[in-house]
Amino acid sequence: MVSRVIPVDAFDLVLFGATGDLARRKILPGLFHRFQVGQMPDKARIIASARSPMSGDQFRAIAAEAIRRFVPDVDQAGSRLAQFLERLDYVAVDASGADGWSDLAGKLRPDVIRAFYLSVGPSLFGDIAGGLQKAGLSTPESRIVVEKPFGHDLASAQALNAALRHCFDEHQIYRIDHYLGKETVQNLMVLRFANSLYEPLWNSTHIDHVQITVAESVGVEGRGEYYDQFGANRDMVQNHLIQLLCLTAMEPPSKFTPDAVRDEKVKVIQALEPVPQQDIARGQYRAGGGEAGYRDHAGNPGSTTESYIAMKVRVANWRWAGTPFYLRTGKRLRERESEIAVMFRDPPHMIFDGAQGLRGNALIIRLQPDEGITLRTTIKDPGPGGMRLTEVALDMSFADALGPQVRTQDAYERLIMDVIRGDQTLFMRGDEAEAAWAWADPIIAGWEGAAPAPYDSGSSGPEDALMLMHRDGRRWREIGA
Ligand code: NAP
Repeated sequence: MVSRVIPVDAFDLVLFGATGDLARRKILPGLFHRFQVGQMPDKARIIASARSPMSGDQFRAIAAEAIRRFVPDVDQAGSRLAQFLERLDYVAVDASGADGWSDLAGKLRPDVIRAFYLSVGPSLFGDIAGGLQKAGLSTPESRIVVEKPFGHDLASAQALNAALRHCFDEHQIYRIDHYLGKETVQNLMVLRFANSLYEPLWNSTHIDHVQITVAESVGVEGRGEYYDQFGANRDMVQNHLIQLLCLTAMEPPSKFTPDAVRDEKVKVIQALEPVPQQDIARGQYRAGGGEAGYRDHAGNPGSTTESYIAMKVRVANWRWAGTPFYLRTGKRLRERESEIAVMFRDPPHMIFDGAQGLRGNALIIRLQPDEGITLRTTIKDPGPGGMRLTEVALDMSFADALGPQVRTQDAYERLIMDVIRGDQTLFMRGDEAEAAWAWADPIIAGWEGAAPAPYDSGSSGPEDALMLMHRDGRRWREIGA
């Protein structure tokens, strides 16, 4: 299929799963924000779809309720909300059946960009792609957006790719990893590739190791049954943490185009070494603080699924040989906190006394909460009494640096507008998703059936994860410090 260049001043966004949790919490509020700041063209329309029959007005009431609930400043914009709702329409389609497709066809305009956002369970991705094709709705200007999880293992990801590619070209397929839509994550690329300061240091000669942490304070309650089939490795590491690792470790692309960036990311994934089981710590949270434990939340008393995982990953290439990447993610930890910490080597020779206890230079890229970047630097402790050293943070909080009026966009907002613009840079390519599963599958097979170590809710994870670092003479940055 050859895509024509058509203007982005008009589009039909079809949101499948429009009554679901993700649509109500993230997608509809994100679209409303774009509208509120005047970045939704006059001729843009949103056609919501789910299986349940309802009128346009009934759906608009659902959307209004979601936006009031999830957009904090919506009250001052009450009239804007009414104008936004006018852009919404609803059509019931049974994704796995024959009903509703012709009604949907009747709602779509010719010659405008069509974006089909599949905010539905992954088992429906193939059905919807096929349904769109059968109804003649997938034009060359169409894009299809699929949510995570993209498969459960390599074989299912390949099957999903085949089903999507049967109906759409790769350049029309947008696989969402919403971590890539986060402002700080994009800033990591700008920091690395628009400044000359970091690149000479960005290698194993100067970097001792990298820590990537995605800690959550909530448990799996509510989605325990789903999560129990996945676990932390499939749910978080194979996609989000590997994406963060790729952006940290990749070579500079020759230009900032979708395929140049994604080519470099794929090369990183292909350079990941298999992870031996002794370099992995898995955990499962216990009941505590009046809250049930993982097994209760999952409804599976004998569950061996991990709610926490830490691992040491090696990138086998010239830049990173000798610099491990330590990844960790878990539920019900002390704080909700995500960051990439680049830990630099100590100076080769220390001329000052009193440097004991210092932790050395570190560049911390904070994803949440409070997105920003910190450079930990050693300075002289002010005052008399000789050359005492101390560490300070050269801190750039985006809210402070750019002013509170510069609201950090939600990742979904950014990504949806990229879909409309036809920019795939921040979306996973099919080969990238498959390469990540090809790396993750043997790791998961290696612990098949083994029970994870229990850890206390509200802690920083299981003991084994601390040992993973101590063994190498290193330590994790403290969660919630
Ligand atoms: P959800 O709350 O269960 O909503 C599912 C939606 O799909 C509903 O609107 C439902 O409409 C519709 N649906 C179900 N079966 C259908 C069918 N046969 N035909 C047409 N529509 C059908 O799911 P969700 O939590 O929003 O998740 C949606 C997707 O996003 C999933 O792939 C999930 O893995 C992914 N995701 C979710 C989150 C999150 O925070 N929720 C985060 C990341 C990724 P009816 O009720 O009318 O059937």
